[in-house]
Amino acid sequence: MAAVTKEDVLQVLKRIAAPDGRGNLVSSGIATDVVVNAGRVMFSLQAEPSHLKTMEQLRAVVEKQVAAIPGVERALVSLTAERAPQPAAKPPPRGNAVPGVRHIVAVASGKGGVGKSTTAVNLALAFKANGLRVAVLDADVYGPSMPTLFGISGKPRAGTDGKTLEPMRRFGVEVMSIGFLVPEETAMIWRGPMVMSAINQLLREVSWGETDIMIVDMPPGTGDAQLTLAQQTPLSGAVIVSTPQDLALIDARRGISMFQKVNVPVLGIVENMSYFTCTKCGERHDIFAHGGARAESARLGVPFLGEIPLDIKLRQHSDEGEPLVATEPEGTYAILYREIAAQVWAAVSGGAGTRPSPKIVVET
Ligand code: ADP
Repeated sequence: MAAVTKEDVLQVLKRIAAPDGRGNLVSSGIATDVVVNAGRVMFSLQAEPSHLKTMEQLRAVVEKQVAAIPGVERALVSLTAERAPQPAAKPPPRGNAVPGVRHIVAVASGKGGVGKSTTAVNLALAFKANGLRVAVLDADVYGPSMPTLFGISGKPRAGTDGKTLEPMRRFGVEVMSIGFLVPEETAMIWRGPMVMSAINQLLREVSWGETDIMIVDMPPGTGDAQLTLAQQTPLSGAVIVSTPQDLALIDARRGISMFQKVNVPVLGIVENMSYFTCTKCGERHDIFAHGGARAESARLGVPFLGEIPLDIKLRQHSDEGEPLVATEPEGTYAILYREIAAQVWAAVSGGAGTRPSPKIVVET
């Protein structure tokens, strides 16, 4: 069977009339961001906030029709209402809400070096690709990496009110990091209360724009600073990044119980450096006992969000400040991270609790 192409999907979408009677889903600009990769299809449907119900019905129909195209293994259609007025957000579990920011999600790990920051940056860009307004707060004050990962240099400007800072921007995402403000060696010696007060400033004294989801790149580990941060930041949930090794999983378990202790829902585990696909022979190698995170998630009753392979390309792009999800929006990694992002968004926005609802992204 010939592989399904973007053109095949567009053909089907062009045959479906736009709900307002003006042309079809493609010509009206309602269906956007079509990505096809190895039988998996993703795209967004732009909905007027007042028509969300009709659009949700349409979404279901469109998803079925696209899934029926020969060669399509999976269709993921997200409904986005970019022009939505600020809806009454669910009250955050703790701390005061940050004005204009609907959901704050922590990306955390039980120890350093497992790819927490790499996951945070690519996940943020995946939310953006899924049609959401995204901000990133680098709370890893011991080793801020967002300036490098986003390829942003320079210092943030003071806001018009003279009291706040303007966030930095790249790839359509707002970013703030202590790394923009102080030399790295200064940040490295901070401890406990200083960490929290610095992060509070980054959170509350920055003029963030209207934001659907803010990703917080947590400091690695489960010490006092991390616990205070988990407790005092108005988090909608946390994503735990782990490598497959048993040792990292023990640390991941500590991370999970830290969030549970302060009643922050654990949205799921991402297994990073999950397996290695040989660039020469194309074969998949499970370098570490692969599958540990999936099994552990099941045991702990925490959703398993997905696995990201060990790939030199991911590291190279990160080092160059050209993260893969932004620079190869149709590539395998964009799809992988967008699928994870869709599950996370469904859990925080759809009232789906901590169960993943992988297919639908609806803003209500
Ligand atoms: P952490 O934030 O957990 O300390 P980083 O995201 O900084 O970890 O990642 C540590 C190193 O591993 C970085 O050099 C990064 O580029 C690399 N890395 C992370 N994830 C992957 C991956 N899936 N494949 C290859 N290299 C990775």
